[in-house]
Amino acid sequence: MEITTTNRGKPCLMLENYRFKCARVTRTTKEWRCTTDRCKARCTTDLDTTIVIHSSTCHDHSSMTAEDKEKHKIRQFCKRKATDDISARPSKIVCSELRSTESLD
Ligand SMILES: [Zn+2]
Repeated sequence: MEITTTNRGKPCLMLENYRFKCARVTRTTKEWRCTTDRCKARCTTDLDTTIVIHSSTCHDHSSMTAEDKEKHKIRQFCKRKATDDISARPSKIVCSELRSTESLD
């Protein structure tokens, strides 16, 4: 399973192209909720987030496409870059990153 972090640095679970945020941690499990607020989808994993113990992934919205995921990655990458180099304008960094991704196709 793929674990990323949210903009606020919280763990974020990627399951079937949907993102889940950690809602609760018990002694043996972690409970995750879909990052879309109105969505009722939930899942439960073990503490190491290696196995899905239970999931009710009845989302009422579409999943992230490969393109969305790529954009998300670029955004995170740009944010890091922008933090590393505060003299560079964020918009400039985003533009150059988007261009370099497009040229890979
Ligand atoms: Zn959802």
